[in-house]
Amino acid sequence: MDKQRILILGGTAEARDLAGRLADRSDLAVTLSLAGRTLDPAPQPVPVRAGGFGGVEGLAAYLGEHTIDLLIDATHPFAKQISANARAASEATGTALLRLERLGWDEADGDRWTRVDSVAEAVTALGDDPRRVFLAIGRQEAKAFDAAPQHHYLVRSVDPVDPPLAAPDVDYLLARGPFSVEAEVELLRAHRIDVIVSKNSGGEATEGKIVAARILGLPIVLIERAATVDGHRTDTVEDAVRLADHLLASFRKRGV
Ligand code: NAP
Repeated sequence: MDKQRILILGGTAEARDLAGRLADRSDLAVTLSLAGRTLDPAPQPVPVRAGGFGGVEGLAAYLGEHTIDLLIDATHPFAKQISANARAASEATGTALLRLERLGWDEADGDRWTRVDSVAEAVTALGDDPRRVFLAIGRQEAKAFDAAPQHHYLVRSVDPVDPPLAAPDVDYLLARGPFSVEAEVELLRAHRIDVIVSKNSGGEATEGKIVAARILGLPIVLIERAATVDGHRTDTVEDAVRLADHLLASFRKRGV
C-alpha cells in the first residue's frame, strides 16, 4: 500500500511532538514545514521544508505537487496568515485539513490580567505613566511599542529584534524557552519589572512568566486570540494523532 502523505505546518512544540509521534509509522510519509524565520531552528524528527510557499496559490500548488492527503495546521495560535492560507488552500484543492491549536491560559486567583485584542491595544493599555515593561511577545511585533517611548522595555526573543526599537530605554534578552517559574521570578525581580505584556499563547514552555507574575502580584496585559474557525480541530497532540488516522481512513475508504 502506498504511504499516505501528511504535511504539518509547524513552528511550535506541538508540531514537533506530533511529527515525533508519526515519524516511525510505516504507512505515513510526514513532512514538517517551517517558516524559516528562526536562525537556528530546533532539530525535528521528520524531514523539513522551510520558507513561505508563496501565499494560498503556492501552498495549493505544493499540496498538489506532493500529493498531500492531509494538511495539519499546527502553527502558533497567533500565526493568523498561514492558518488562513491553510484553510483557503485546503478548500481550493480538496485536501483534508486538521487544525491543532493548544488552549490558552486560564485566569487564576491572584492574577491581575488586562485582556486586549491586539498588540496596538496592548500598547495603549500600558498607560501614559512610565513603567518597566517585560515584553514577551516575540520579536516580530515588538516595534509597535515605539508608539509608547516613555516606558522602559525588556524585550525577550529567540532571535535579535532587527531593526531594534526606536524607543530610547530598551534592554534585549535572547533566550529560547522553556522557562521555569523560578527563573522567571528571578528575571522579573532583577529587572524590577512592574508589568508584563504577553500573548495568550498557552502551553507549558512559556507559562512560567504567567505563574511568576501571580507569585509577585504583577499585572499582565494579555493579548487574546481571534475567534476560532469551524472545521476539524483539536487542542492536544494525542487527539490530533487519533483525528489524523480517522481522516486518512475515511479518505482511503472513499478511494481517492
Ligand atoms: P504568519 O504571519 O501567519 O505567516 C506569514 C507568512 O509566513 C505566511 O503567509 C507564510 O508565507 C509563512 N509561514 C508561516 N508559517 C509557515 C510555516 N509553518 N511553513 C511555511 N511558511 C510559513 O506567521 P508568523 O506569525 O509570522 O509565524 C511564523 C512561524 O512562527 C509560524 O510557523 C508559527 O507557527 C511560528 N510562531 C509564531 C509565533 C507568533 O506569535 N506569531 C510564536 C511562535 C512561533 P507564504 O504566504 O509565502 O506561504
